[in-house]
Amino acid sequence: MEDCIFCKIVSKEIAANVIYEDTNTIAFLDLNPRNPGHTLVITKQHYATIFEIPEEIIADVYRTVKKISKPLKETVNADGMNTVQSNIVSQGVHHFHTHVIPRFWDDNMPIVWESHHAADRVELMAIAEKVKRLLG
Ligand code: AMP
Ligand code: ZN
Repeated sequence: MEDCIFCKIVSKEIAANVIYEDTNTIAFLDLNPRNPGHTLVITKQHYATIFEIPEEIIADVYRTVKKISKPLKETVNADGMNTVQSNIVSQGVHHFHTHVIPRFWDDNMPIVWESHHAADRVELMAIAEKVKRLLG
């Protein structure tokens, strides 16, 4: 897609520190890393978000995430790793990508899914039932 920075990385118009590449995916180091080794795994084809990407391609993305995770952890001597994938909200580049972020016990990184209250059980049941209905 024209004017998409990640499409330009795929086409090699823009240089990147690529660590892995296969038929449908490419993994490269983030230019503004939250931690050393912060990597982005993207699709080679342009899909904006999880809502557009086909199931078989997202499976390829996470196969690549799995493949790079141990060598990446070992390279930066991380204690663990987070994978974070934003769609529309908190998404700066509108080309599907998953952040793979090496974690260290003392890195003080906030947890985006931290809960501030106990769930209303009736609401939980209503949400689960509606999603199941939509899944068919
Ligand atoms: P998000 O906010 O989830 O869309 O993340 C986009 C990420 O892409 C940010 O962490 C940026 O630092 C990173 N980024 C943007 N342009 C480049 C680039 N040319 N090479 C590597 N990383 C990039
Ligand atoms: Zn793109």
